[in-house]
Amino acid sequence: MDSFIVSARKYRPASFATVVGQDSITNTLKNAIRNQQIAQAFLFTGPRGVGKTTCARIMAKTINCESLTPEGEACNSCPSCVSFAKSSSFNIYELDAASNNSVDDIRNLVDQVRIPPQAGRYKVYIIDEVHMLSQAAFNAFLKTLEEPPAYAKFILATTEKHKIMPTILSRCQIFDFRRIGVEDIATHLAFVARSEQIEAEPDALHVIAQKADGALRDALSMFDQLVSFAGNSLTYKQVIENLNVLDHDYYFKITDSILAGDISTTLLTLNEIIDNGFEGQYLITGLGQHLRDLLVSQDKETVKLLDTSANIRNLYLQQASRCNPGFLLKALDTCNDYDINYRISNNKRLHLEIALMQLCMLANPEAPSMIKAAPGPEITRQAAPVQKPVTPVAPVDKPLAEIRPEIPAPVVSPQAEKAEIKPSPVNPQAASQPKNTPTQSYSGMNIGNLMNPGSKNLVTEPAAGAEIVETEMPVMSEVFTQADLERVWTEMAGVVAQKLPNLYTTLTCRVPVLHDDNRIVITVDNKIQEGEVFNNRPEIVKFLRSKLSNTSVSIETVVTDKPVEERRPYTDTEKFEAIARNAPDIRKLKDQLNLDIEM
Ligand SMILES: [Zn+2]
Repeated sequence: MDSFIVSARKYRPASFATVVGQDSITNTLKNAIRNQQIAQAFLFTGPRGVGKTTCARIMAKTINCESLTPEGEACNSCPSCVSFAKSSSFNIYELDAASNNSVDDIRNLVDQVRIPPQAGRYKVYIIDEVHMLSQAAFNAFLKTLEEPPAYAKFILATTEKHKIMPTILSRCQIFDFRRIGVEDIATHLAFVARSEQIEAEPDALHVIAQKADGALRDALSMFDQLVSFAGNSLTYKQVIENLNVLDHDYYFKITDSILAGDISTTLLTLNEIIDNGFEGQYLITGLGQHLRDLLVSQDKETVKLLDTSANIRNLYLQQASRCNPGFLLKALDTCNDYDINYRISNNKRLHLEIALMQLCMLANPEAPSMIKAAPGPEITRQAAPVQKPVTPVAPVDKPLAEIRPEIPAPVVSPQAEKAEIKPSPVNPQAASQPKNTPTQSYSGMNIGNLMNPGSKNLVTEPAAGAEIVETEMPVMSEVFTQADLERVWTEMAGVVAQKLPNLYTTLTCRVPVLHDDNRIVITVDNKIQEGEVFNNRPEIVKFLRSKLSNTSVSIETVVTDKPVEERRPYTDTEKFEAIARNAPDIRKLKDQLNLDIEM
């Protein structure tokens, strides 16, 4: 009875030429052998199952071969090659560091190294999973690696290069083995299938190759397993059922219904997929991959990034021609977001459904079908409620009432209006703070009404904002100086002093500075003050523009950590000193009347 040999062993490459998907490495090694420039130590690193040990063995055989072929391959017929083929060569020594990682194991190896080869030229020491060696073992090994005898060659293999000590790394020639491409794996599987007289559909082999994620050994194991189940013919359907892979048909189907904006079909397809036992996250990741594949299919240059069989490639090309790149990018972004948030979602199915409905909306923003029955996307897309026009409120009796009547009044945002009607001491605007304003809270209110009472535009204008202010005002370009600015600034501070003490403090803390292009820089102490200015920015700008008769005025805040040079007077004594500095007569008066300042 034939004993079964797993394909990974049976079809293990015996020459550099047959190593799958590592051409640059095998070419370099062949060249080194041909030119007799073989390093003392090599480090083969890369993911598992990509051919590191295989290459190490081929290397051991080839450098011992007595009659190399012109290509730099072993002849496979000389006594050395024959003994390698029978696994009876004494010139190869393999140590699996995963299970033999003690100092003693390494000492054994070091003892072996001292003995020269009885036949052949080189003794080759292959240490697999070398990162598993203990620290002490590493140290014991270092000396040998530093000054090995000329006949000794070391090939260290690891999946985790970062765990290798730099002292070891610096003594090795390093070869990075890459994941093997889907196409290469599929081709190799086809070769194995042919050799085993198994009829396998190319699509089936591609699915195996994709699932193997770059590891040929995994692909061959899966292949063996599937063949033992399916017998001598391997179909796509059998493969996706056994590997629990979601049929690409589903992705095409769901993308078609998304493109059509057909929410019903999309949700039904999702239901079918879930009924088939697939994890939701699997679908969303897979859909992301599908969209990515569609995107790369749109360009002749990138179509080679598609890791599929020719058959499926055509399906991609067809579907890609019906998508626009803008949609694909946005859809990819959406898939990615939902993928990231999937784990933290409480209702995973709803999470998926919303994702798909959003994709339908993206593809067909005007008229996705079934929109009444599925309001999900509608709601999420209009998270910010439309601001209702507000009725004008009674103007506050302030000295600014008469400013420039030809300038349309600014628009009052809803929270300002609220604050006006009900000047509650507890932060009245907190609940209705619009999304885009900073989160800093301040206990004042919007200065819009204060500075520009008698607004007439409140009913017609939908929202407040600096942009609106900019478009409303007729262009003015009067020249003004820093002194003009300071005068207007003081006036503005006076207007807000009563109602907005915090803003008043912020505005009067430092002198604003006029820069080029009528840019006014306001230095503030902290983020809260910055928020204060930000929240009232449109009104401040409007006030300055109208008072300075210049519509190019803009403001900008700078947060500083320098203390104010001159602290604002706080105690009565400080206040007196401040006044007395400007009006020396006051001091005289105090002295003459022998007044006491402290209460
Ligand atoms: Zn040979």
